[in-house]
Amino acid sequence: MSDFRLSFEFFPTKTEEGHKKLLATRDMLATEMPEFFSVTYGAGGSTRDRTLSIVTEMNSMGIPAAPHLSCVGDSKAEIRDLLNIYKENGINRIVALRGDLPSGMKASSGELRYANELVEFIREETGDHFQLEVAAYPEMHPQAQNFENDLDNFVRKVEAGANSAITQYFYNIDSFYYFVDRVQAKGVQIPIVPGIMPITNYSKLARFSDACGAEIPRWIRKQLEAYGDDIESIQKFGEEVVTEMCQELVDQGVPGLHFYTLNQAAPNLAVWRNLELGEDA
Ligand code: FAD
Repeated sequence: MSDFRLSFEFFPTKTEEGHKKLLATRDMLATEMPEFFSVTYGAGGSTRDRTLSIVTEMNSMGIPAAPHLSCVGDSKAEIRDLLNIYKENGINRIVALRGDLPSGMKASSGELRYANELVEFIREETGDHFQLEVAAYPEMHPQAQNFENDLDNFVRKVEAGANSAITQYFYNIDSFYYFVDRVQAKGVQIPIVPGIMPITNYSKLARFSDACGAEIPRWIRKQLEAYGDDIESIQKFGEEVVTEMCQELVDQGVPGLHFYTLNQAAPNLAVWRNLELGEDA
C-alpha cells in the first residue's frame, strides 16, 4: 500500500480572495503528502492563463502539480505553446481531455477532436516527458453512442500513450469494478484511479451529476432529499457514505484515489482521514 496514489483536484478561481482560499486549501491538503495536485482547464482556453499560473505556483511549493489540458476549441499551435511552457516550468504530468465547450463558445479549430488524438499529439510533440492521465467513465460518458463503444474509445486513449486514468465520480461501486474488468479484458493494464466526489450539498451535486452522467443511487438521493436544508445532516451522511465506498475500494486494492475537492479541504480530509489504508501505508 506504500505506493498508494493520492491526488487532489482544484479549479482555477477568478478572484484574489478565491485564490487565497485555494492556496490555504492546498496547504491543508499538502499535509497528507499527495502524489500530485491537479488544476482544471476551461475548454477552449477560458482558464488558460489561470491554470498555467496556479499550476506553476503550486508546483514550486514542493508537491508536483498537473494541469488539465483539453483539446476541443484549441489549435495544435496553442497546445504546442502550452506544452513547451509547462516543460520549461518543470511540469511533468498532464490530465489530457477532450473537454466540453461552454454553450455559446465556438470551436476555433477542429484539429484535435477527441482525447485519444490529444494524447497522440502530446506524445508526438514531447515524447515521454509527461505522465499522461486520461478520463474514464464507469457509468459511460454522457455523449457516447453506447457503453461498448465508449469502452473502445477509452482503450484508444490508452493505446495512444496514456499512463493512467482517473474516473468520473460515481457512487455505484459495481459500475467501477465492471468498467475495470471490461477494459482489462481488452488488454488495458494502466492504473485506473477512482475519482471521488464528497457529498456536501445536494442540489449542486444533483445538477452536476445530471450533466456529467454520474448516477446518484436512489437510496442516497432519497435520504439527501429528506434532509432538506439541514446541511449538517447532509454532510454527516455524505461523509459516511463516501467513506464507506472509499474504504471498500481501498480494501479491493484500487491503485489510488483522486479527490474532486471543489477547492475545499474539510470534506476531503474528513473522508481521507477516516480510511484505513492497510499495514504498509
Ligand atoms: P473523449 O475520451 O474524447 O470522449 C468524448 C466522447 O467521444 C465519448 O463519448 C467517447 O465515447 C467519444 N469518443 C472518444 N474518442 C472517439 C473517437 N476516436 N471516435 C469517436 N468517438 C470517440 N473538462 C474540462 O473542460 N476541463 C477539465 O479540466 C476537465 N477535467 C476532467 C477531469 C476528469 C478526471 C474527468 C473524468 C473529466 C474532466 N472533464 C474536464 C470533463 C471532460 O472534458 C468531459 O467529460 C468531456 O465531455 C470528455 O472528455 P474526454 O477526455 O473523456 O473525451
